[in-house]
This record gives sequence, structure tokens and C-alpha cells, in this order.
Amino acid sequence: MSNSILTYRYRLKDATSGKHLLRMAWACNTVWNFCNEVSLLAWRRHKHFLSAFDLINLCAGAGHALGLHTDTLSEICQEYARRKRQCHKIRLQWRSRKRSLGWVPFKGRCIRLRDGEIAYKGRRLRFWSSRPLGGTVKTGSFSQDACGHWYVNLQCAVETPGVPLGAAEIGIDLGLKNQLACSDRPEPYSRENLTRKHEDALGMAQRAHKNKRVKAIHARIANTRKDWAHKTTTQIARRATLIVVGNVSSTKLSKTRMAKSVHDAGWGQLRMLLEYKASKLGVTYCEVNEFGSSVTCSACLSKTGPSGLSALGVRVWTCTHCGSLHNRDLNASRNILRVGRDTLPGIPLCQ
Ligand SMILES: [Zn+2]
Repeated sequence: MSNSILTYRYRLKDATSGKHLLRMAWACNTVWNFCNEVSLLAWRRHKHFLSAFDLINLCAGAGHALGLHTDTLSEICQEYARRKRQCHKIRLQWRSRKRSLGWVPFKGRCIRLRDGEIAYKGRRLRFWSSRPLGGTVKTGSFSQDACGHWYVNLQCAVETPGVPLGAAEIGIDLGLKNQLACSDRPEPYSRENLTRKHEDALGMAQRAHKNKRVKAIHARIANTRKDWAHKTTTQIARRATLIVVGNVSSTKLSKTRMAKSVHDAGWGQLRMLLEYKASKLGVTYCEVNEFGSSVTCSACLSKTGPSGLSALGVRVWTCTHCGSLHNRDLNASRNILRVGRDTLPGIPLCQ
């Protein structure tokens, strides 16, 4: 058995708790902006950055006036210091009600959970208990989405089985036409292009300046994409013992005419979910450089495949060197698996 951290997300129920949460989110923004201002001042006067510890000391005692738990204050200070380290900036963006979505972090010990109810600072908030919670809550947060709905996110330490459920070694090629091609499965996983499907409705709502409708359509697209990604990656992780994924990046492709398809494919989300589910099930996960994977023949390793942008439409090709017939995506996923096996020294070759 091994330990891993999983996040459980539940939608909050009460329409009445919205106002209360908005007020708490305002208080959190105040703390964040105070951290921002005071660390800028410290930098200007003494040329030194304030650590999370310094910020927590400076915020001491403010919790009572703002109606926040002391742990919430320290979580905000820690998150501020972490973000600042990541961004390498003297000052971060201000948080305001218009600019940022509501966010109230907390530690596991400031809340009480009872079937479908969470108590924080003497206030009970109800949520839809869509699945049972596993493990003990370490940290969490209340967060808001663009449509104004509130959620509670609970990060739990969960004991996971160290042995994977499946035995397959899977190379995965991420693509545009077929989102996921697995080396152990002849048919790729594919779904329709969601951006294109909702394009007309979105355009109409945008031209009519119906902001609420625009947000709702965007949320629908995002939810459908996420749901599909979750279902597919679970299927893959359950039958795998090794997962190798190509490191294809959307940054360069997003400047070409394929931009819409690239954004719709959501490669980053798929990779994140695969890695997360692999760690949950004790599956080995690695990312490899996928350069040349679609032009190399997986049988004889000669570069005889169709190359260049014009060859993207070629789905099936025959190797001129060894004569084997290849499906474009399946061949690429087999190459990715081979590269992954070569880079991971601990795995014995059995194929
Ligand atoms: Zn060949």
C-alpha cells in the first residue's frame, strides 16, 4: 500500500450560502492584496522578499475582524509566497470581485464533515454528496466557477494499492483527429470536436451580447471535455502497468490554422489525468520526446512514413523498406512505447 493525495470536488447546494461565501471570498482577497502591497513595500525599502512565515506574522490577529479562520489566513499567505516564487515577479495581480473568481482556502482541521454537510466557522453549508469521500482531509478550498456556482474541493490522503490492476504496456499518441491512440488497441479513442459543435450557438450568443449564455455554453463544452477525458483515462489506467505519452505541445501549433482543434483536444488535461490516475493505481508513467514517431516504421525503424503538413491526411501507409502496412496513429503510439521502454532502465523487455 502507498499513500497519495486525491482531490474530491462537490457542488455546494445552498443558494443562500452564496452570499456568505462571497463575503468570505472578499475577505480572502483583502488578505491577498495586503500581502501583495506589504511585500512590495518590503522590497522597495529593504530589498528583500517576505517569506510565507513573515506574511503570516504580519496578518496575525486579522482573522477575527475578517470572519476567517486563522488557518485560512496562513493558507493564503503560503499560496501567495508559492505563486510569487513561481512567477519571479515583484508584485502579483490584485484580486478583486470582478477580476478573479471566489476562493476560500482552509485546512482539514478547521472544518467538520457530516453526511452532505460541511461546517466552517460556525456556518453549515450543504453539498451534493456525489461520491463517497475516502481518507482524511488535509487541506481544501471553496471555489467558484465562471457561472457563479460554488464548489468545495477536499484534498485527502488516500491509501492506494501499490500493485497496478492491469498488465498492459501502453504507448499513447495524442492527436487531433483521434485524441488518444493506444498501442495495445486497434481503435483509437476519439470524440467529436466540441468547439466546432457549439460554434454557431456561441457566435449567436456573442453577437447578441448575452454574457450569461456565453458563459453557460463555455461551461458546457469544458464539462463535456472533462467528462470524456476522465472516462477514457480511467479505462486506460485500469488495464496498464506502464504508460508512455508523447510530449506534444500545443504552443507552436496554436499559431497555425489548426489552433481551434488543438485547443479543443486538451492534451495538457489528458496528460495530467493520466499521470494522476497512474500514480493512484501504482502504474509507471513517463513522458518522452515524440519527435519522428509518426514517420518511423515501428517494425524496421526506418524513416519511410509520410512527413510534413501535407501528409497529415494520410491515415494508412506502407513501409517501402519492409513492406508492413501501418495505421498512422497506432504506429506512432508503438514508437512512443519503444522510446519509453528504452529510457526507463528498470523495466525488463518482454516483447
Ligand atoms: Zn518498415
